[in-house]
Amino acid sequence: MTAQIIEGLPVADRLRADVATEVARLRAEHGLQPGLAVVLVGDDPASQAYVKSKGEQSKAAGMHSVTHLLPGDTTQETLEALVRDLAADPAIHGVLVQLPLPKHLDEKPVIELIGPDKDVDGLHVVNAGRLVAGLPALVACTPTGCLILLKATLGDLTGKHAVVVGRSLLVGKPIAQLLLAENCTVTMAHSRTVDLPGICRQADILVAAVGQPRMIRGDWIKPGACVIDVGINRVPFDNPEQAAAGKTKIVGDVNYKEALQVAGSITPVPKGVGPMTVAVLLHNTVLAAKRLAGVS
Ligand code: NDP
Repeated sequence: MTAQIIEGLPVADRLRADVATEVARLRAEHGLQPGLAVVLVGDDPASQAYVKSKGEQSKAAGMHSVTHLLPGDTTQETLEALVRDLAADPAIHGVLVQLPLPKHLDEKPVIELIGPDKDVDGLHVVNAGRLVAGLPALVACTPTGCLILLKATLGDLTGKHAVVVGRSLLVGKPIAQLLLAENCTVTMAHSRTVDLPGICRQADILVAAVGQPRMIRGDWIKPGACVIDVGINRVPFDNPEQAAAGKTKIVGDVNYKEALQVAGSITPVPKGVGPMTVAVLLHNTVLAAKRLAGVS
């Protein structure tokens, strides 16, 4: 058996096209142009690439887009002053501060300053609480993207046993809440979980959000399960010559080759969950703009 490969790109393309249509309608009918501000502190190449893609894709969808690139030695005060301005700017409906921040900066007060209404990354405590309470919320982009892929693949998720490995505020916890809201029976696993392989083997839906390259092995997967691999890990090439030349590639948290032989369906890394994240960010910005403007 070889698993069905859940391609993220076509699903993300469709979502972006829907966003662009909605942006055009909002501009034409309400004179409302959703605006996204992205802030990056420092010069981490991966973060720079994500920020660039967020700016390009929001512009391509017809949105107002601003990007603030701050030097790595930016002070907490300077960052907070910028975020305070963006939170008060009526042309901006979503503010995203690219994480992780350099070590000398504290993200908590920054997220607090964004406020729940423009928190398109779904990290504000009010949005986290609203998600748990089943109230309308801005939900973190990657977990929302995972849910869209799951529903596109499996349809109704009711009654399925979902195991989420990882309990971060950005990924693991919101995914678990979204799955619970879809009537899954949810188990959350983490670094202190006893018998992680045994827990994973119970999963109809296995979500890996760990940050450990290829940690989840084929024999941890229940035959026919749907596997969502959120991990983005940079590792040396398998080929020793390329590895010696310092060449690296991106792999997930799941051993993809092994999993392909057991799972019913699986997201590849890259081009699985990754493309969904930015598409959902655009979707969240439109949602935030509509709520802030009181437009249906
Ligand atoms: P965090 O480091 O914040 O959280 C990792 C989680 O994995 C923690 O809960 C940790 O447990 C758990 N964990 C770590 N090691 C083990 C282990 N050996 N066994 C079981 N659990 C373990 O990471 P994130 O949630 O932010 O990200 C997870 C992965 O997803 C990363 O690879 C990241 O790059 C990727 N990512 C991908 C995105 C995308 O767009 N595709 C977006 C965001 C993240 P504990 O709490 O006990 O420490």
